[in-house]
Amino acid sequence: MNIAALMYHDVVAPGRDDDSGFPGAAAAHYKLETGEFFRHLGELANSGLRFVPVTAAPRLDARSCLLTFDDGGASALSVGVELSARHMTGHFLITTARIGTPGFVSADDLRALRAEGHLIGSHSHTHPAEISRLDTAALDREWRESVDRLQQILGEPVTVASIPGGFYSRSVVQAAARAGIRHLFTSEPTIRTHRVDDCLVFGRYTLWRDMPSANALALALGTDALRQRQWLTWNLKKPLKRGARPLYRLVRRRWLGEA
Ligand SMILES: [Zn+2]
Repeated sequence: MNIAALMYHDVVAPGRDDDSGFPGAAAAHYKLETGEFFRHLGELANSGLRFVPVTAAPRLDARSCLLTFDDGGASALSVGVELSARHMTGHFLITTARIGTPGFVSADDLRALRAEGHLIGSHSHTHPAEISRLDTAALDREWRESVDRLQQILGEPVTVASIPGGFYSRSVVQAAARAGIRHLFTSEPTIRTHRVDDCLVFGRYTLWRDMPSANALALALGTDALRQRQWLTWNLKKPLKRGARPLYRLVRRRWLGEA
């Protein structure tokens, strides 16, 4: 099955980067300003695409698109309201250890989002720096603790998740599947899905600050070379991310001012 998914994070007022989600410059790179985000939504709402819940798979078709929001920053609640007003379903993937802490959603926010028809999923419990480096026991703890916490808050099974930092490995997916996850989002920029055990794995295209709203539309529709460009960049970065971690971190610090 092929399906396009878009990955957003927080939406913040100008100059208020740390109001929602993880603080710092590296995280801010992925936060859209409110006006920007509205322009994206405007383009997407008029695209002719249907923004549906991933749980509708395998009935998703070429006119379906998945909208995801990682980290569980406090802006999720207002994002959810804006999506509902446009008849779009969002997937909010939550760092559960942060629930109720400054800059992040509360348990009440999550229940309100769910009542609006949005899907709530896990983004791991603590958002480890490189989840793919954890051993089996630690991986199980990350997913199980997170899923349990959400299930307690929502009173229903939680079967959707996204991998923090895009650190995909087969063991990461298998552990998520053991915790009951059936739909898992990665950061691999592809429309191709694949199955690992009981889990269907979805790629996503990343949206970041200062990206023109036309790019969101192009990534959702696949109308120009933007998808291929993200795929190429991702695959060029992959060996750097895996093989030379200290260098990768140094480069990120230099470019993004990551602490
Ligand atoms: Zn994240």
